[in-house]
Amino acid sequence: MLLAAPRFALPETVTEALAALAERPDAVVVAGGTEVMPDLLWRNRTAAGFVSLRRVAGLRGVSSVDGELVVGAGTPVAALTAVPDAGLRSAASSLGTPLVRTEATIGGNVVSALPYRNLLPALLASGATLELTSAAGTRTVPFDGFVTAPGRTGLAEGELLTAVRLPAHTGFADYTKVGRRNAQFVATVSAAIVSRDGAARLAFGNAAPTPLRSDDVDAAATALLDGRADAGDLRAAVAAAVDPPDDPIASAGYRRHALGVLAVRLVTRAAVDGGLGS
Ligand SMILES: Cc1cc2nc3c(=O)[nH]c(=O)nc-3n(C[C@H](O)[C@H](O)[C@H](O)COP(=O)(O)OP(=O)(O)OC[C@H]3O[C@@H](n4cnc5c(N)ncnc54)[C@H](O)[C@@H]3O)c2cc1C
Repeated sequence: MLLAAPRFALPETVTEALAALAERPDAVVVAGGTEVMPDLLWRNRTAAGFVSLRRVAGLRGVSSVDGELVVGAGTPVAALTAVPDAGLRSAASSLGTPLVRTEATIGGNVVSALPYRNLLPALLASGATLELTSAAGTRTVPFDGFVTAPGRTGLAEGELLTAVRLPAHTGFADYTKVGRRNAQFVATVSAAIVSRDGAARLAFGNAAPTPLRSDDVDAAATALLDGRADAGDLRAAVAAAVDPPDDPIASAGYRRHALGVLAVRLVTRAAVDGGLGS
């Protein structure tokens, strides 16, 4: 039996990519393919066609614009290991393996929208925004709220993620994750911090169905940072805020405990390293 070959578009500009998507709305967008290809292999997804972003040079690169770090959605994760934002750098450095980081892109990580993906807590802690482009133009939305459920986002049909913007800051930022091993294992739980002007902002991965942050947790973290509260208060605030999954990798109880430990660890690093001006 002959099977019709899936259609494959290889555009070279964002405009061409949007046109290819408009022509074939059921096509799957492929950036690095490190998520899409295993999904196809394991039959978690089917595809009627593909729009590859590999040749869209305009989607790659890191620049500084109006006090923001602007990262093209097609920028490989490997390039993020050298960006000025220490939280994003740290989250990128522990993603997969060197080979995966060479192919994987920031855009694929964001749009995959799974709660254990490395870059998501770092983007949430930093107050990142996203540039979403369609034939109608570009809109900018906060990353906070973009992921609506595991694997689901606010991306509209025919729209591409074109850039991620992070506010530049001179404070302290970091990311940490717990997994069964360091390489090639998704985070059992993860956390990121940005601490500036005496205030801490934390964000968590695999702490809920979507990336999570909480004003109560940030208030407890800031109080720990300036000595008004102790580690137990922050752990209690984290335990009250999170709603982690219970699965064969770890129980919800273990995750709740580990998230509190990671939060205290990051605030302690912010107090020590941040105080040293690094
Ligand atoms: C061996 C291995 C280890 C891994 N380890 C980790 C890990 O430790 N941590 C981690 O977070 N991830 C890990 N991953 C998952 C994966 O590498 C990352 O999520 C990666 O960032 C995905 O990027 P990509 O460019 O390959 O995405 P793709 O597979 O190309 O795409 C992923 C999704 O995003 C969509 N998409 C991509 N770009 C755009 C865009 N610009 N606009 C709209 N939609 C878009 C695609 O349609 C698809 O739905 C691992 C994968 C492998 C194979």
